[in-house]
This record gives sequence, C-alpha cells and structure tokens, in this order.
Amino acid sequence: MMESNKSSQAYPMKGGDGVSSYTNNSSYQKSLAEVVMSLIGEAIANKLDVQSFVGGHPFLIADLGCSIGPNTFIAVKNIINSVQLKYQTLKITPTPEIQVFFNDHASNDFNTLFKTLPSDKHYYAAGVPGSFYARLFPRSSFHLIYSSFALHWLSKVPDEVMEKGSPAWNKGRVHYGGAEEEVVMAYKQQYERDMHGFLNARAEEVVCGGLVVGLVPGRPNEVPHSKCIGNVLFEILGCCLLEMAKEVPLQLNKYRLFTNN
Ligand code: SAH
Repeated sequence: MMESNKSSQAYPMKGGDGVSSYTNNSSYQKSLAEVVMSLIGEAIANKLDVQSFVGGHPFLIADLGCSIGPNTFIAVKNIINSVQLKYQTLKITPTPEIQVFFNDHASNDFNTLFKTLPSDKHYYAAGVPGSFYARLFPRSSFHLIYSSFALHWLSKVPDEVMEKGSPAWNKGRVHYGGAEEEVVMAYKQQYERDMHGFLNARAEEVVCGGLVVGLVPGRPNEVPHSKCIGNVLFEILGCCLLEMAKEVPLQLNKYRLFTNN
C-alpha cells in the first residue's frame, strides 16, 4: 500500500529465517488464521460438494499469497485434515491424492518456502509465481482455493493519490487512514477493481462444487477509518517513513562535509 512511482507493484515479505524475516514475524497472522480454522472446517463439511468431483483425479488446493511459511503449511495441513474427514464421513474411497500449489509474486522467497516444506506432508507441492489478480490456473481445475492476509495488498497505489493537482492527492502520505474522503474513495475504487479481477479469475479456475476461502483484514462499519487500529498503525509507520526520508539529505550532507575535510 506504499506509494511508489511504479505502476504495478510487488512487495513480497522479507525472506530467509533471520530475526526480521516473515517466518519470525507473522505470529499475528498465524493466530488469526487458527481462530477461523473451525469456520473453514465447517465450510468444507457443509459446502464443499466432493460428490460432484470426478473420481480418480487428484484434489487440487491453492494458497494465494502464501509468502514463505510457516503459516501457509499450518493452514494447508488444517484444510487437508478437514477435506479428508469429509471424504471419510461420506465413505468415499479411496480418498484422492492431494496436490498443493503455493502462489506468490515471482520475487517471493520460494527457496525458503521449498526448503522448509514439512517433511511429514501428505501432498505433492508446487510453486506458482504471479499476481492473483489475474488468472493463474487452467479453467475448472481447482477444488479449494485459499488466501489469507494477502487481499489487502492492492495491485498498485491508485494514480490519483500521487497526482499533485488531483482532489485525491494524498500529500505524500502512505495510507488513507486520516485522509480526505476523495483519497479514501480512490483506494476503495482500486480495491474494487482488484477484487473484481480476483473473483473473476477464481470463478474460472474453481470446479463446480469447489470452495474459495478468503481471510481478509476488515473494519467494523461503525469505526471510522481514522480510528481503526490497523490504520492507526499505518499512520504512525507512514510518519516514521516520511521522517526518515527527510533525514536522508541531512545524512548525505554530513557525509559530504566529513569527506570534504
Ligand atoms: N498467507 C500468508 C502470508 C501473508 S503476507 C499468511 O497468512 O501468513 C501477504 C503475501 O501476499 C505476501 O507474501 C505478498 O507477496 C503476497 N501478495 C500480495 N499481493 C499479491 C498478488 N497480487 N499476487 C500474489 N501474491 C501477493
């Protein structure tokens, strides 16, 4: 959601397993994904129409915006447990083989993802690079498509918020939290365009009777944008980034003075 000159933007999470890696800084996302697992289990039990799937074919799952783990592995394991339970409950045998496609931007650290795949996994794994705002898979091929904490990443910063003459100009800020209505609307419209692309693509890819599960951070209707905790955090972060950006010329000047002496 940060501003940049690029028109199409990809900001994958920090790779590797260091102290600032996504692996070591995603317990919040993990805990919330665990909270909704029972809801996903219920949706699989009640809505996934496994009887309409053609027997003998593998069951295909995708995690869109999977990052580098471990959250994706935990989610996939829980989903597979619920799917297998469904097959057992309906006494459909044999249960199908399962293949999982891990998707993220091409610049995501897929090496770490593959290196840390659980050794006891009961599925075939594959990586799929590319934006989930467009088609990623063949028509009618997937049985369950999951995405968590990824759909709030817009495909780009809306152009208007970066144009000085525009009523939606955001004055260099990185977020819409405390901004004018025009700025909020510009972000909203970008989100609508992106979701349109996402849902149309998934509608093509998922088989009849399949499921698309999206876990998206939200805001209660009665809480204004400027008071929503996530937005408050982005505002603080934005201020820090602007301060740092202002510091850079000073640092450069100091450096120049030092070397001139
Ligand atoms: N699903 C994981 C990771 C969430 S972090 C979890 O719940 O912990 C969000 C991830 O979405 C990042 O890895 C980011 O690169 C990815 N992402 C954002 N926009 C994307 C897009 N358009 N296409 C594919 N991946 C995207």
